[in-house]
Amino acid sequence: MKDYAIVGSGVGGSSIAALLNAKGFDVALFEKEPYLGGCSSTFMHKGYKYNTGATTLAGYEEGHTVKEVFDAIGVKPNLIQTDPSIVIMQNNKTTPRYKDFDAFFEAVNLNYPHQNNEEFWKLVYDINKDFYTMKDYYYANENSFKKIKSLFSFFPLFMKFSKYLTVNALNFTEKSLPELGEEYLDFLQAQIYIVAQAPMKEINFLTAALSLGYTFNTNHYVVGGFETLFNEMTKDIKDVYTKAEIVQIVQKETHFELHTKNEIFQAKKVILNSTVYDSAKLFTKDTIKNYYKKYEKLNNYQSSFMLYMTIKSDKKFFHHYQLIQNAQLKNTLSKAVFVSFSDVSDTQITKEGHYSITASIHTDSRFWEDTQNYKDQKEELQSLVQGVIMQSLGISEEEIVQSFSATSKTFEHYLNRSQLGGNAMSMKNFLPFLPGNDTPIKNLYNVGDSVYAAQGWPGVMLGVKNLQRLLGV
Ligand SMILES: Cc1cc2nc3c(=O)[nH]c(=O)nc-3n(C[C@H](O)[C@H](O)[C@H](O)COP(=O)(O)OP(=O)(O)OC[C@H]3O[C@@H](n4cnc5c(N)ncnc54)[C@H](O)[C@@H]3O)c2cc1C
Repeated sequence: MKDYAIVGSGVGGSSIAALLNAKGFDVALFEKEPYLGGCSSTFMHKGYKYNTGATTLAGYEEGHTVKEVFDAIGVKPNLIQTDPSIVIMQNNKTTPRYKDFDAFFEAVNLNYPHQNNEEFWKLVYDINKDFYTMKDYYYANENSFKKIKSLFSFFPLFMKFSKYLTVNALNFTEKSLPELGEEYLDFLQAQIYIVAQAPMKEINFLTAALSLGYTFNTNHYVVGGFETLFNEMTKDIKDVYTKAEIVQIVQKETHFELHTKNEIFQAKKVILNSTVYDSAKLFTKDTIKNYYKKYEKLNNYQSSFMLYMTIKSDKKFFHHYQLIQNAQLKNTLSKAVFVSFSDVSDTQITKEGHYSITASIHTDSRFWEDTQNYKDQKEELQSLVQGVIMQSLGISEEEIVQSFSATSKTFEHYLNRSQLGGNAMSMKNFLPFLPGNDTPIKNLYNVGDSVYAAQGWPGVMLGVKNLQRLLGV
């Protein structure tokens, strides 16, 4: 019998499996797909490789959780620092998000002049620097007593940022930058949306500042694609089962039974990396089903439309662009397309002289439920997104080697989830209402972007560290 069975090999599942394995526990990691990493994986399509979703690695620097966890597992990733982290293009304006405050400020103030710019951006910068010095808070949700006790650990953080935690981001920004205009607001909104997964009107200013300011931290490009991180993280785990979907979990007196289509495994403890919205169906017992059903209402149906391209080009590109349009594209929720290019020297992910491109735009999974029009709808959006990229970045038809798209339905088919980006960091999703890494069910735990703390590598890794603490290992 295993000490731990981890269901799903996303950022959360693979990291906690590797941490527990490094501590000497007997673990088994189950992944439905042939490759590890979930939304942060790398896949092959007709001879060319692509990052599935995630393309930027934040948090690999001293004092940040991603590095702490990698160090604890003994992973030394092969990375290239990206500076600027993103190049933002809107109308005729190009704003590189440099790490250095002065370099970035010069660009933003030139493109979006405002008399309060310096004060506003300095505040964003300072909040970011201060936030990552705060440690030692944790979140438990096994029962009310443990939850309340854990909430006290946020007291220093609350005291330090109370002014920004309780104020709406849109109101605060409009007060700080009076009459900032639609273009500048779109510029801010687009950057916030990709981190907070919610519009400014739904979040507090602390979340907005952390979203706007993550580019002041060190960001990295992962050489060879994100799969290299997962291969590295899990290389010492003996029992990694791919193409092994867990279809049912039965709670027994002393352990759990995990069923794939063909086999049954036993484990003392189970850690789920499937989303809380999709986990009820795995269980036979009503108490566990009801626990997960309680959180289905957190599913906001937010998802991504993806465009994957390989181009053969001798042009030079930055790693990441955000291309802000003046209107939302049809069947999307945003005005901005996020586009990532492989590094020109990275021949692990694509052939010399080629670029592997992963592009995304927010959508609603319910837009893709009409099976009759699905194909046309998908082709239409693929052509719109591709057009935006080609026009903004000067890519010609002849340079395109391969191009195809994916919707929330594709994610559902491959990764068992159509909602992407986890729980929006909105004021409505206030911490005490969020599912934790522990549960009221003995020996059953959660990890990933639909539970504490948030989405993306830094958010999920905070949850991994939190889970490690709750497990007492
Ligand atoms: C388009 C897009 C772009 C993004 N860009 C970035 C970025 O640039 N930087 C960043 O840091 N983050 C980014 N993110 C967010 C980041 O990718 C996710 O928050 C993170 O990867 C989620 O990790 P997770 O632990 O929740 O696992 P998931 O990615 O949800 O993986 C869960 C895994 O569990 C498997 N699974 C599910 N059910 C079962 C089962 N029953 N049995 C076996 N296996 C199962 C799935 O197949 C999947 O592999 C992006 C996300 C998207 C969608």
